[in-house]
Amino acid sequence: MVLKGRAAIGQGPRSEFWIEELPVPEVVPGSVLVKNTGAAVCGSDLHGWRGDQDGPVTPRKRIPGHEFTGRVHSLGKGVSTDSLRRPLKEGDKVVFPFFFPCMRCYHCLRDQLYACQYRFRSNLTRTFEDYPYCDGGFADYFWLKPGHFVFKVPEELPDKALATINCSMAQVMFGLHLAQPKQGDTVVVQGAGGLGIYATACAAEAGASQVIVVDGQKARLDLALRCGATATVDLNEYPTPQARVDRVRELTGGIGADIGIEVVGIAASTLEGLDMVRMGGTYVDIGNISGGSFQLAGNKVISRQTRWIGLQHYNPWILESCLQLLVRTKDKYPLLDLVSHTFPLEKMNQAFETAEWVGKQKGSAATRVVVTL
Ligand SMILES: [Zn+2]
Ligand SMILES: [Zn+2]
Repeated sequence: MVLKGRAAIGQGPRSEFWIEELPVPEVVPGSVLVKNTGAAVCGSDLHGWRGDQDGPVTPRKRIPGHEFTGRVHSLGKGVSTDSLRRPLKEGDKVVFPFFFPCMRCYHCLRDQLYACQYRFRSNLTRTFEDYPYCDGGFADYFWLKPGHFVFKVPEELPDKALATINCSMAQVMFGLHLAQPKQGDTVVVQGAGGLGIYATACAAEAGASQVIVVDGQKARLDLALRCGATATVDLNEYPTPQARVDRVRELTGGIGADIGIEVVGIAASTLEGLDMVRMGGTYVDIGNISGGSFQLAGNKVISRQTRWIGLQHYNPWILESCLQLLVRTKDKYPLLDLVSHTFPLEKMNQAFETAEWVGKQKGSAATRVVVTL
């Protein structure tokens, strides 16, 4: 009997999702079939759903989702361990990159797997009618091609805490890694949604003397304070970019932050963040993916000697570091408890509407909506 699984299908901005039963790919030697347990609605899923991302949109009947986790359903011939050669068996909880670095190109060879030009996510570049069919985030199964990276999850980490690791948490932890933080650095995090909360905890755990978090929702800022922030800047209290920049400078002895991390997703926040970073500091742009534009003086980055890093994706080893941080801080920060709403796959549309609504709620510290599978 052919194994089948459910998958949510979308066909472009603002269209309703529907569910299809699809064949599940054969587990060829070297591959791993994952039975997904949960998929989160990420900010970039919402950009695609709204249709406000950069560039032309090709309507395609495809399975969305890239922030998700699962358990090993079956192991292909020759696979008995994870990427760290730890024994792997059916039923084990796993995390894995949602994208596939090719491992044989200019960028991969130079240890920039995140910049691989062939890393495209298979479920986003084909339709659900193409092989391997039931394969995606908002689907029952995801197929890890032969040789793909996979990390066994410590049993003590609950399923509900895992869906957000392979995008939001890995993304900001890798961004911080590229910034090369030193002990005692001051870090400013712009945005206290899912990525911002993880960035806050990662910065605190990397030895920052100060982690300053900027956001417009008090409940989110309060959550940031419970996750390692030492100070917050509330947009309601500091309503102009200049007021916020001044406040960050004041909190850092007039110097500015050593490192800035942008996870807001609005172009103007990048301009503001560049001013929050000290002369010779580092600025990591992660959230600003929707393509809004801004004007910048030609000598701005040079005269302030800013190391300005744009980043999408990560090198896979960071996933293990994420797991270790979650285990290490499980009694220190509420990072295992960031999911506020869960929906079954049949309620995909409601999940997306809720994620959109939650992001605008003043009193809510909700950071992620998860579809359980
Ligand atoms: Zn994402
Ligand atoms: Zn490559």
